[in-house]
Amino acid sequence: MWTELFDLHSHSTNSDGQHSVDDVAQMMAESNVRFWSLTDHDTISGWESAKTAAQSNGIVFIPGVELTCMPGLEPDEKVMEEHQRERASDSWHLLAYFPEIEFQSKSHQRFKKWLAPLGEGRVPRMMTMVEKLGELGMKIDLQAVLSRAGDSVGRPHLADEMVKQGYVETRQEAFDKWIGDGKPVHISRTKPSIVEACEAVHAAGGITSLAHPLYYCVDTDKLVRFCLDSGVDAIECFHRSHRDSYRFQLLSAVKASSLSTTCGSDFHGMMYNQSPGRMAVPTNTLPSQLKNVLNALDA
Ligand SMILES: [Zn+2]
Ligand SMILES: [Zn+2]
Repeated sequence: MWTELFDLHSHSTNSDGQHSVDDVAQMMAESNVRFWSLTDHDTISGWESAKTAAQSNGIVFIPGVELTCMPGLEPDEKVMEEHQRERASDSWHLLAYFPEIEFQSKSHQRFKKWLAPLGEGRVPRMMTMVEKLGELGMKIDLQAVLSRAGDSVGRPHLADEMVKQGYVETRQEAFDKWIGDGKPVHISRTKPSIVEACEAVHAAGGITSLAHPLYYCVDTDKLVRFCLDSGVDAIECFHRSHRDSYRFQLLSAVKASSLSTTCGSDFHGMMYNQSPGRMAVPTNTLPSQLKNVLNALDA
């Protein structure tokens, strides 16, 4: 049995998404999503409003976050060629879900405390990138960049401001020339290892899923081995960027192990030609905490 009721990966204006939490909730409901997770980058500041918005749209909110971590494995040239990717991303993203967490409980507070410096690391880093751009003759107002972001400022906000100031034509050009990984103005920031992130999530009663593995360009079997060894619970086999062939390759590898799978549209906004929901996943491969959420609704 496959289900399209889950969308476990989406962003709001609290990180680099285009739409408010309320709007994302509404769009999810309109796309027939019943179980929705908001997974903003390195912040959980949208949880309260997402819970309320989900309720008013008649859907179930699953508290989530997308954690920026250090890469787990080196990229493999052969895999890069196979998927025609020029480079692998310099961070690995780990999705974390807390279907059973009680808001303001000890676990919630502890996790929030662990997360805080990871999110805050974003502002000093942005300041340094703005300074570097200034040295290169591109004057950018830091406040203008920060005001584009809700709680979690990131490079897309900077790119948009560069477009507005006319230094580049598109967001993509800003990344390709200046602020992308390894480009002249890029500053990397403190990131936990995948193992550290898993420990923090598990300590708060949550579960983890490795986001969009296509971007890391590693062999599927090695990836599964790595996840098992690091305490990762699931792999996001069903990500919008994955072609069917890759989805099934991952699914077979996961099924041969004790890992689970998750699905996510990674919805950032309509202006990127993206749409929420309509992500199919085999029900029995979902992590048990998420299956419980589904069963609770049936009961
Ligand atoms: Zn990501
Ligand atoms: Zn994402």
